Amino acid sequence: MNWHTLSADQIFTATGSAPDGLTSAVAEERLLEKGPNVLHEKQQKSWLAVLAGQFKEFMSLVLIAAAVISGVIGDVTDSVIIIVIVLLNALIGFIQEFRAEKAMAALKKMAALHAVVFRDGLPVRKPAAELVPGDVVLLEAGNIVPADVRLLESHSLRLDESALTGESLASEKITEPVSSENLPLADRLNLAFKGTLVSYGRGQGVVVATGMDTEIGKIASLLQEEDTLTPLQLRMADYARKLSFIVIGICALLFGMGLLRGEEPVNMLLVAISLAVAAIPEALPALITIALAMGARRLSRQNALIRHLPAVETLGSVSFICSDKTGTLTLNKMHVTEVEEADARIPEVEISPFLLAMALNHDVRITDDGKFEGDSTEVALAEFVIGKIGWDTYHRIVSRFPRTGEIPFDSDRKCMTSLHRFGEKYLIITKGAAESILTRLKEKPGFFHQRSELMGANGLRVLGFAWKVVGNMPELLTAESVENQLVFAGFAGMVDPPRPEAKAAIDACRTAGIKPVMITGDHPATAAAIAREIGILDDTGLVISGTELQQISPGALAEKAANVCVYARVSPEQKIRIVKALRDKGQFVAMTGDGVNDAPSLRAADIGVAMGINGTDVSREASDMILLDDNFATIVKAVKEGRRIYSNIRKFVRYIMTCNSAEILTIFLAPLLGLPIPLLPIHILWINLVTDGLPGLALAVEGAEEDVMRQPPRHAGEGLLSGGIGLHIVWVGLLMAGVTLGVQFWAIHVQDAHWQTMVFTVLSLSQLGHVMAIRSEKTFLYRQGLFSNKPMLASIVFTFILQMAIVYLPAGHDIFHTQPLNLTELAITLGLSAVVFHAVELEKWVKSRILQPPSYSRV
Ligand code: ATP
Repeated sequence: MNWHTLSADQIFTATGSAPDGLTSAVAEERLLEKGPNVLHEKQQKSWLAVLAGQFKEFMSLVLIAAAVISGVIGDVTDSVIIIVIVLLNALIGFIQEFRAEKAMAALKKMAALHAVVFRDGLPVRKPAAELVPGDVVLLEAGNIVPADVRLLESHSLRLDESALTGESLASEKITEPVSSENLPLADRLNLAFKGTLVSYGRGQGVVVATGMDTEIGKIASLLQEEDTLTPLQLRMADYARKLSFIVIGICALLFGMGLLRGEEPVNMLLVAISLAVAAIPEALPALITIALAMGARRLSRQNALIRHLPAVETLGSVSFICSDKTGTLTLNKMHVTEVEEADARIPEVEISPFLLAMALNHDVRITDDGKFEGDSTEVALAEFVIGKIGWDTYHRIVSRFPRTGEIPFDSDRKCMTSLHRFGEKYLIITKGAAESILTRLKEKPGFFHQRSELMGANGLRVLGFAWKVVGNMPELLTAESVENQLVFAGFAGMVDPPRPEAKAAIDACRTAGIKPVMITGDHPATAAAIAREIGILDDTGLVISGTELQQISPGALAEKAANVCVYARVSPEQKIRIVKALRDKGQFVAMTGDGVNDAPSLRAADIGVAMGINGTDVSREASDMILLDDNFATIVKAVKEGRRIYSNIRKFVRYIMTCNSAEILTIFLAPLLGLPIPLLPIHILWINLVTDGLPGLALAVEGAEEDVMRQPPRHAGEGLLSGGIGLHIVWVGLLMAGVTLGVQFWAIHVQDAHWQTMVFTVLSLSQLGHVMAIRSEKTFLYRQGLFSNKPMLASIVFTFILQMAIVYLPAGHDIFHTQPLNLTELAITLGLSAVVFHAVELEKWVKSRILQPPSYSRV
């Protein structure tokens, strides 16, 4: 359909709509008929596909081969058991992966776009997916266009259509029909296409196509996002691959040595294969996803919505948080506390130019029940002026001076202009930041300049008003041609109190080695006053203004940036320079942003943080994380959570790798010490699957270390095995193997009773002792308390009961070839199983007492 050639009436007829939109009933019907307004994403993996995927894992294949070999040589029990284990393994893998996918899908849904649409004649905010053809939607700067829209109203509406047309220059939109039919998309100037960005102005139009019928829908298959792995997962996968080779090498060696010693070849092969399966940490990348996805879910409950999973892991490395002021550090609840009026009057107007300007120049929507909706600065001004002049005068003024045009606000100019009919003439009103107004005046009012500076120094946001009357409506509505030769009307100073939790959050940042920085469009004096109040700015910190920033070279900025606490009157473009300067110095930067032009700096930051309440769609799309409450304190909470998750992943790796090294060392060293192969394949698989798996998973829910926010940020490129983990894996592995082999030696030589059952049980239970000890890297278990991680306690008790069942129940004897231990044997087994636990607790003590922790100071 050539929507661009139709007139407004024709559009309404063609879409069965009206200027005030559709009714809810019609919209619902259409939604059923047309389907939701979404692009078909890459097919979600079905549960069957996820399940089938589990069997494709290399290790499952090896195990299946082992089962077949067992079957062929007549050991049917073993082959059935191995098959059962493969199935169990697949089932666990399946549940984990499916949960992770579901969690991610839920997060995506929460981050979905919304749009303001007229339903039953009233503007309402709805998920963009619910739009249908015929809906009348509002568009404003910062929106992502939610569907293909034929525009019927445009106030300097400009769209960035590069996603669709490749044209990077914003296109100025019109509302009149365009006559020629076969125009390229870029020339259909009265259409706004789904997925493009509103970079400036406001507008309104009728939805003409939704979902896959839209222009972008037609090329949607080109835009499918690939699943990407997080940096940590990539490193882990690479690591696991390298380790596989080593493990396979060791197993081959073991097999060869077994043959030389005259072991039965098939048995030896099964031992080698089981060991390879057990020791290769193939599940680690998947487990990391689970830990991250669980973390993301927990964060969303704390009002931080993660858009990209890697953000969860990188949050822990943040060393600088650059935050907007308004709304993030302050409440964004403004009210006017001081005004300063010029004396001028406009003939035949009942109120002063100052109050008149304030009453007319705003985009606040006043609902039927008297609520004010809109930008909080403007709401404060409208509330103030209506309070002053009363509703009657207000309505009279608004109808006497109807708006005939506007030059919308933008944060580079820091002002906005509205034009109104005034009898035969036109009244032009500009309001904006004090300096922006002062530069646009015909005559400078010297005294007022000082007044505004004083208000700023007291932490007030100061807005100035100016006006002029012209004979004709200007033909060209640009800032350059209209906003000049104005007459000063007055200043209004308003307070925006800091958020009550901001001060504590700032303090927490400093203790955690993170430097909080304020970046604001507000005046330096206002910004500095608030920054001082909440603790961002101290006597040594610097305040830099956008003008100064312009004059500093990138190199000089990089040198200086570490000491700057406040950047004021900064334009969004300059925010990128700040991010780059900090990153050049190796800092890891989280940066907040809410405006249309903030997207590039959000992308440039290591963690781009957008606002859920007051942010624009564009900034949200560019972010890694969205604050659902717009609150600075939430970023700090998220950093804490990120640190916790990363540290739990490290614990997890430490646990699994130590278990594996113990298993390998036990089996590898036994023949060298003249002992028989200590474990059967089934024992190895059991330890790998149950003993390692369950408690290991419970590590993901371990609480944060006590001092997690008293540590400096982790270095982003830090290896997963840094900080002594590698050493731990080796020495605890050796200890565990030593204890196990000691039991074997003793049992064979002294008693020769149930040595294999004892060996199997000691190794199994030692793992449980180990996991208890590594719940914290520093705190002793008795201080943490057994109950502080209930899933862990439950999984340990459960695993212990299973192990005892294997030892004492006849079914266990048949399957695992175990024998019941007598009381002495059991006591020895339990006693020795506790050795590793105590040794690792001792390691904490040694580390804290003998190896001094690195000294560290607040920033
Ligand atoms: P922050 O960057 O801390 O979030 P902000 O978002 O309010 O602050 P901008 O929106 O860039 O910063 O505003 C910059 C300046 O523009 C403000 O300090 C104010 O003086 C002026 N200003 C803000 N809103 C309006 C408006 N609706 N009309 C005119 N001027 C405005």
